[in-house]
Amino acid sequence: MSLATEEAKDNVVRVGHRMAQSRLVVGSWGNISTLVKKDKLVIITPSAVNCDNLHAHALITVDLEGNVVEGNLKPSTELKLHLAVYKSRPDVNAIVHTHSTYGCAMAVSRQALPPILEDMAQLVGGPVPVAEYAPAGTAELAENCSHALGKLNAVFLANHGVIGVGRELEEAFQVCQIVERTAKVYILSGILGTPHVLTPEDVKSHHNYYLTCYRRPTNKNK
Ligand SMILES: [Zn+2]
Repeated sequence: MSLATEEAKDNVVRVGHRMAQSRLVVGSWGNISTLVKKDKLVIITPSAVNCDNLHAHALITVDLEGNVVEGNLKPSTELKLHLAVYKSRPDVNAIVHTHSTYGCAMAVSRQALPPILEDMAQLVGGPVPVAEYAPAGTAELAENCSHALGKLNAVFLANHGVIGVGRELEEAFQVCQIVERTAKVYILSGILGTPHVLTPEDVKSHHNYYLTCYRRPTNKNK
């Protein structure tokens, strides 16, 4: 394995521990992957292992067709979904999947989350749509997810959870954190009155600012 792949494993473990502490997932539900472009390999968390107990040797390395290259455990049940997103989005190198409470409330009510906060507009680049329902782990869910995600950075899986994507793991994790906070604010502001949505022009301007001025430079190994 190249240095880039070994570094990618360390990143998955680090973000896995942070995800477990963040309460965006409970137990082993939720998964993380990252693409090492130069090696054409994906590092993904194993199925049924709590993220707070995650170690680099528990991770699974697969090729872009999903064949296991390294690892003794079973890859996450959502491997198909992760691979489908990497295939449809050449700009994406990391995917984080959570079952966070307010995100799940949106996913269960099957309502898109409009861009109501500036940080959300910056990172997500628009609303968070809802992918049509299909059971977890199926090729149908993978297709529905990629289709609904389009060029955005987050999507709800109907009656299931949240997908956040990014150029690197830290960014995909931040997307999930910001989507969760925005979903909470949206639900609370709906109780207080009518949530006001940012205009498409404002969303575009915030997203462009993030892409051109705010975002960290790319990791040279990717
Ligand atoms: Zn899930």
